[in-house]
Amino acid sequence: MLALVTEPAVPHSTRVDDVPEPIEDGVLLRVLEVGVCGTDREISEGLFGVPAHGASLVLGHESLAIVERDGHGFSKGDLVTATVRRSCHHCIACEEGAPDSCLTGDYSERGITRLDGFARELVVEDPEQLIPIPAGLGRLGVLAEPTSICERAIRHALTIGGRQPWQLERALVVGAGAVGMISTYLLRLAGIDVWTASLEPSSDLATASGARYVSTKETPLAELRKETDGFDLVISAVPDAQVMADSLGLLRRSGVACLLGIDGRPQAVSIDGPVLGLDAILENRVLFGSVNAHRQDWLAAVASLDRARERWPEALEAFVGLRVPLDRFAEAFAYRGVKATLVLQD
Ligand SMILES: [Zn+2]
Ligand SMILES: [Zn+2]
Repeated sequence: MLALVTEPAVPHSTRVDDVPEPIEDGVLLRVLEVGVCGTDREISEGLFGVPAHGASLVLGHESLAIVERDGHGFSKGDLVTATVRRSCHHCIACEEGAPDSCLTGDYSERGITRLDGFARELVVEDPEQLIPIPAGLGRLGVLAEPTSICERAIRHALTIGGRQPWQLERALVVGAGAVGMISTYLLRLAGIDVWTASLEPSSDLATASGARYVSTKETPLAELRKETDGFDLVISAVPDAQVMADSLGLLRRSGVACLLGIDGRPQAVSIDGPVLGLDAILENRVLFGSVNAHRQDWLAAVASLDRARERWPEALEAFVGLRVPLDRFAEAFAYRGVKATLVLQD
């Protein structure tokens, strides 16, 4: 059967290849579609990822699949997605079913780290890792993985903010890629006043949710801070460590900033002295990072996506701007809209 295979340490080794059909025990899935993101691009460029066996790895961590035969509590035809990160088997977080908080780093991740992904026709999955997709959500279920990342981030922000009396009224989302846009929609669903900012001149998708869109080419974020008097929550979803550091200065009293973008470039970034040494302390501000998602975030993600689809059906359909077959993976990797997917089965 066909699969999208790469050699993680070897740049541009990604190719469609023939791989053996799975024979292990579990739920047999036929993969319908996989979303691609910056992680897939980075693995493909040789910057990230760990092989699953030998030197190779099947890509794909944002899955939508259909159950092929009855068993393990699932029925043929059920739509499902699957978690990405799996237990390291030797830390208390993983033991408690929270590999998203793994303390060793020895976890595996589908399509990223030591475990083959979903960009292949058939996969056998552990039933405990499957997340049912509501039938009404249909192909939009392919957005479950990035949505689970945003759900976790917001859940953690609410926990951190809620350590003291706090009201989340006004949020800023920096970045208009999949994570930024999905965060915008989740916060709008919760009735939060949202500003979404990115370099693009405009974003119909952001405004369709009722968020206010800010082009940072016209209005620098520091100016927005002055105009609005700051934000209770900042979600920073851009691959730029300087922008991440700046988010501490965009908060108002008791504000929480969450970092979701990735920027591994070796560099020094600067932070305003009084923002760190004065405001962060006198105003009880927090800056934190979040990765991956707990099973509860996956369940919340599919429920939220379904509610978002009911409220903004056309906008949700517009999230996936490019759907191509497996052999056109290079186009999907190069896509700069919100989300591109690889279609394995219509
Ligand atoms: Zn991804
Ligand atoms: Zn662990």
